[in-house]
Amino acid sequence: MNDCLFCKIAAKEIPSDAVYEDEHVFAFRDINPQAPCHVLVIPKKHITHLADAQPEDQAVLGHLMLICANIARMDGVEASGYRVALNTNRQAGQSVYHLHAHVLGGREMGWPPG
Ligand code: 5GP
Ligand code: ZN
Repeated sequence: MNDCLFCKIAAKEIPSDAVYEDEHVFAFRDINPQAPCHVLVIPKKHITHLADAQPEDQAVLGHLMLICANIARMDGVEASGYRVALNTNRQAGQSVYHLHAHVLGGREMGWPPG
């Protein structure tokens, strides 16, 4: 999509600290980390947010979840615990409108989230 920050990061038009890439997803470290492990995992296809996901996106979103688990394992937070979050729309705090899963770990997490 034209003018989407995360499409540009996935296309490497904007540099990022990439941790994983395959045909369908791209993962990179958050520029403003909220935990020792804070990785964003995005589909290469532009999907605005979870609310816009379609039945044809099912396979890529399932794949994206498994990649989140692999990244948590690679970053060493699997045993201690981690959270995968998809902020959707304003009240949830979505600021970039290209679907992304936050993988957060390496510290104690509160519940419910703020
Ligand atoms: P949201 O608030 O939409 O759930 O999450 C967007 C995330 O993207 C934020 O955690 C923010 O720090 C991160 N972010 C925003 N711009 C950039 C960028 O240019 N590079 C990287 N690596 N992360 C970004
Ligand atoms: Zn996009």
